[in-house]
Amino acid sequence: MPALSNLAAIDAAHHFHPFSDMKKLNASGSRIIERGEGCHIFDNAGKRYLDGFAGLWCVNVGYGRKEITEAVMRQMNELPYYNTFFGTTTPPATLLAEKISAHAGEKINHVFFTGSGSEANDTWFRMARVYWAAIGKPTKKAVIARVNGYHGSTVAGASLGGMKWMHEQGDLPIAGVHHIGQPYWYAEGGDMSPEEFGLARARELEAKIDELGEDNVAAFVAEPIQGAGGVIVPPSTYWPEIARICRERNILLVCDEVICGFGRLGHWFGHQHFGVEPDLAPVAKGLSSGYLPIGGVLISDRVADVFLNEVGDFNHGFTYSGHPVCAAAALENLRIIEEEKLVERVHDDIGPYFARAWKSLEDHDMVGEVVSVGLMGAVQLAKDKKTRQRFEKPDEIGTMVRNECLERGLILRATGDRMLASPPLVITEGEVDRMVAVLREGLDAVWAKMRG
Ligand SMILES: *Cc1c(COP(=O)(O)O)cnc(C)c1O
Repeated sequence: MPALSNLAAIDAAHHFHPFSDMKKLNASGSRIIERGEGCHIFDNAGKRYLDGFAGLWCVNVGYGRKEITEAVMRQMNELPYYNTFFGTTTPPATLLAEKISAHAGEKINHVFFTGSGSEANDTWFRMARVYWAAIGKPTKKAVIARVNGYHGSTVAGASLGGMKWMHEQGDLPIAGVHHIGQPYWYAEGGDMSPEEFGLARARELEAKIDELGEDNVAAFVAEPIQGAGGVIVPPSTYWPEIARICRERNILLVCDEVICGFGRLGHWFGHQHFGVEPDLAPVAKGLSSGYLPIGGVLISDRVADVFLNEVGDFNHGFTYSGHPVCAAAALENLRIIEEEKLVERVHDDIGPYFARAWKSLEDHDMVGEVVSVGLMGAVQLAKDKKTRQRFEKPDEIGTMVRNECLERGLILRATGDRMLASPPLVITEGEVDRMVAVLREGLDAVWAKMRG
């Protein structure tokens, strides 16, 4: 191992990071994170940070869980790899599929494994088209997704996502992917009430189906709550209307549960919070709390029955589909979530506590609105909270607040002018208090600067 003081230089010389301007990053140098314990991480200077973002929305059970390390070591020694292609499986892959199905509601009983959330989105994308073709509707191919949604970074994932700055690189979206507006009332609701706006945005789906022709549309995909887009909690009217439209117009409903799944919203899956039933649901992140990479697609009986009875071979899969060591990590992670009743804890206890503490920031002069569900929250920054006027450079203002928090030992994420929180599900009340107190200090510091 090279001396730590050299690591940043080596990193700049050789390591190409995701979603980064490498010239800028190399000039400033990467922060080097060495260690984690509970809800905290430590950098190579020994500085401690409260991780209000659970890594990247994923470390649901917190850092340093020896039970997971040991489960991984046992499986490594027993069988480090075998595939699930040619009529074979391994015990952890099979038992993991069973456990996920047990938590996913009566109509979901099958899981297809992938290595990541992006691969999970690529998987259901093909699955939806194969499904319709198999029941004599081969023209039903188009997929409708949303502006400012996030579904990963592969070609299909980035196409389904509605990030313009991603589409601009690599000539995306691919053919057959269409986008409708997002239910972001604060920024786009104008004079409508949130409830009116939620209905209006949901009905864009109906209009898009009419425009494309019902016989040409395979599926609609959405995150129960947009994550990377800024923790956009839809108005209460939105999801019931989306579900109605999908049902009446006979298109598959796909809920991207990569963030919302595995307890984040106080339910096993985010769609359960909104009372809707997806036909397909990609998962990843919290499935293993990020300890090892694994994702999958939850498949409802409606879709599974067609594959079982009509499709024959589904010509799709990954070398690491159901990887036994990753599956063992996920199984142990889910066992911890069950044993420590973390989903119930988020629903009944720490979630409501977080909601109250987080909401207290709404009195700040620079805060337009504060939202949260379970342990997923956002603070919308505003230049004038009375008129919902936003800052001219939303990205800059969010980054300034984030950096103030970072200096004070708190990790939050900024998406534009929204401050996002998604802490481990094991966060304590004291740690929640500290998160809110530090963010308030950060807001004070930036507000003072802005007013010069
Ligand atoms: C992170 C994320 C993905 C992509 O998952 P990767 O594991 O990074 O490929 C897909 N959908 C949503 C909603 C996500 O948050």
